[in-house]
Amino acid sequence: MSRPGAIMSDNVTRRVRTRFAPSPTGFMHIGNLRTGLYAYMFAKKNGGDFILRIEDTDQERYVEGAVEKIYSTLVKAGLDYDEGPDKDKGFGPYVQSERKPLYKEYAEKLVELGGAYYCFCDKERLESLADENGVKKYDKHCLQLSREEVDAKLAEGKPYVIRQNIPQGEGESSYNDLVFGDVSVAYADMEDTILLKSDGMPTYNFANVVDDHLMGITYVIRGSEYLSSTPKYNLLYDSFGWERPVYMHLSPIMKDATRKLSKRFGDANFEDFIARGFLPQAIINYIALLGWCPKDNREKMTLAEMIEAFSTDGISISASIFDEMKMRWLNGEYLKELSDDEFYRLGKPYFDASKAKGYDFKKIALLLKTRVDILSDIPSKVDFLAEYSEFDQNIYLHQKMKVDLEVAKKSIEISISALENLTDWTNQVLFETFVAAAEANAMKKGQILWVVRIALTGQLVTPGGASEMAEILGKAETLKRLKFAFSRI
Ligand code: GLU
Repeated sequence: MSRPGAIMSDNVTRRVRTRFAPSPTGFMHIGNLRTGLYAYMFAKKNGGDFILRIEDTDQERYVEGAVEKIYSTLVKAGLDYDEGPDKDKGFGPYVQSERKPLYKEYAEKLVELGGAYYCFCDKERLESLADENGVKKYDKHCLQLSREEVDAKLAEGKPYVIRQNIPQGEGESSYNDLVFGDVSVAYADMEDTILLKSDGMPTYNFANVVDDHLMGITYVIRGSEYLSSTPKYNLLYDSFGWERPVYMHLSPIMKDATRKLSKRFGDANFEDFIARGFLPQAIINYIALLGWCPKDNREKMTLAEMIEAFSTDGISISASIFDEMKMRWLNGEYLKELSDDEFYRLGKPYFDASKAKGYDFKKIALLLKTRVDILSDIPSKVDFLAEYSEFDQNIYLHQKMKVDLEVAKKSIEISISALENLTDWTNQVLFETFVAAAEANAMKKGQILWVVRIALTGQLVTPGGASEMAEILGKAETLKRLKFAFSRI
């Protein structure tokens, strides 16, 4: 039985195999990516395989380009899958829509085994099942059909679906989730859901079981929205006589105490964060911590370090709250570690997008590397180079400054005369010049440095100190701005 997709012998050694099974419905949501990350880390930690499967059976939710997004996200995030649509190791196809014949074959097999049955009920009949709350629980009507009746209807070409045959009466289906512990659902609370639709496409309820089994998945790691349907899926494994996988369900990521993180609440997707200048390694590091904590509580870790530290007992059962400020902080830490060249290379599009033109961005990048948390902070830090005409003396009266205007004016005057004959226009020399000017005039060096920094930029928060700003602006522009500020006080 070497045909791809053949039923595996249950004697096959259960090598650890996890999968990431995104649906191509748009951008890669941070919650989905975290699921993929945990599945990846678990596989790698245990020397196993990480498989990518595209779950595209729901044609209505399919979004053009979404599959490409899945690939590019995994590549950028460094989650290198061992098997997937473009890496078939004999378990393919890895795209559900290409597996359509398999689902039919297995659904029919399940009917033979008694775990499922054909249903020919039409829409009207199904509608009529609604109870006073509008709930339409299927009543197993078609389970009564004899084999001959079923065959006759099939021969007639009557449209049909295949439904799961949930055991009747008392009893429950239980399993032990590695995160949530024991989970049980009574048969009475389950429904004979559709496994194969009338168009021959499987529902998630069926496809996840068939595929996980055929792909030899030993650990199913996915969102907790599937926690309570899993007992039902396990009944399918049992009916087929297949070994159940081990499950790990992950709690949702929340925006706050009551709201789930979702597209509706801002940009909770990987691509948007990348576009805003977050580094992939910082995003991955941060989202790993949403629901998992290493034993030593470390926060900043490379992917390799996280794999090393990964363990299921560190996974939290409670929902985690996405804290963008914390991810910004972490990203800033990663930016500081970049080489100057790398920072400049990554920051270049943001410098180019700023209003400042004609400046030496390479030099400015050196200043900014330790002063921005995300790359998209760059334009707001350098726009002062272009925008200056609005300088307003009131900035000195701001509560954060509280500089006496007389002192400000004097500081600027002193600086102008100290700088006018200066030829060595470098940060170091400029700094010493300001300090010397302060001393010579019995002023505190801070007074001059603060006043000049603001006079040069028109901003309270600047990417560097007075001497650094002056160096970047160059002599002519520095003197021009100091004189302008002087005239405005
Ligand atoms: N396609 C499903 C989803 O995106 C995957 C669920 C699973 O991992 O089994 O929610």
